[in-house]
Amino acid sequence: MTIQWFPGHMAKARREVTEKLKLVDIIFELVDARIPISSANPMIDQIIQQKPRIKLLNKADMADKHMTARWIEHFENQNQHVLAIDAQTGAGLDKMIKMAESILKPKFDRMRAKGIKPRAIRAMIVGIPNVGKSTLINRLAKKNIAKTGNTPGVTKAQAWIKVGKVLELLDTPGILWPKFEDEEVGYKLALTGAIKDTILNLQDIAVYGLRFLQSNYPNVLMERYQFETIPEEIVDMFEHIGRLRGCLMAGGEINYDKTAETIIRDIRGQKLGNLTFDIDV
Ligand code: GDP
Repeated sequence: MTIQWFPGHMAKARREVTEKLKLVDIIFELVDARIPISSANPMIDQIIQQKPRIKLLNKADMADKHMTARWIEHFENQNQHVLAIDAQTGAGLDKMIKMAESILKPKFDRMRAKGIKPRAIRAMIVGIPNVGKSTLINRLAKKNIAKTGNTPGVTKAQAWIKVGKVLELLDTPGILWPKFEDEEVGYKLALTGAIKDTILNLQDIAVYGLRFLQSNYPNVLMERYQFETIPEEIVDMFEHIGRLRGCLMAGGEINYDKTAETIIRDIRGQKLGNLTFDIDV
């Protein structure tokens, strides 16, 4: 699903997240480990304010491990709580729950001291489309035998998913918009599959991808497409890859659109291995 964001949708999304914030103790902010900056909502700090937050670099299984380690260090240096996870297999989720418990311990200790009955930690997941919010919710629900019940909320009843004894998760995530102002962000979102349809021109996305690989991952580019040396000119790269992969038109000319599609599919499908596209740590 790709959402076309308009000012009205953004205002509504923000309102919904702001309402639900009141119901939870902590936010799980999901981003894509391959683009931890480009996949973040540009207003996330203003929206969630002082609410405790754990930044989850999801799809860590697809990201460049070395870069993920650098990003984690970067966010930790900013005093952010951060973890790399893989919502699909569940890797990192035990750590996530432990981290939430540890962050909220002072709050829960205070509650206990006031004689308030202990309860589970309440959390919600937020993030832009396609970062893995539903996958994470399903994973947590499955792992811990989902039991949804209705607890009256501030405005309307919310369904919670019980995750073991310690955590209750809102069953619907907060969906926020991505950054639009930066063209490069658009290409990175497209290359990681966050924007699936043809909002951007296919050839432009593939050109961006090839240039990025040429500068940052030349060896994987050479290996995947059997280059002896990587051509300087993008058009020569297209020629070579198009011919290699049989993306040809009737007369034997290169079909550039088909070549672009092939390149994008290869990148999204991890055919060039684990890549990280946000590299300015
Ligand atoms: P949502 O829009 O944020 O709810 O995203 P989804 O949960 O629908 O996930 C988008 C796509 O990413 C789906 O194809 C998922 O299978 C895939 N996905 C989600 N989490 C992971 C992960 O940790 N690793 C990998 N490799 N794929 C994931």
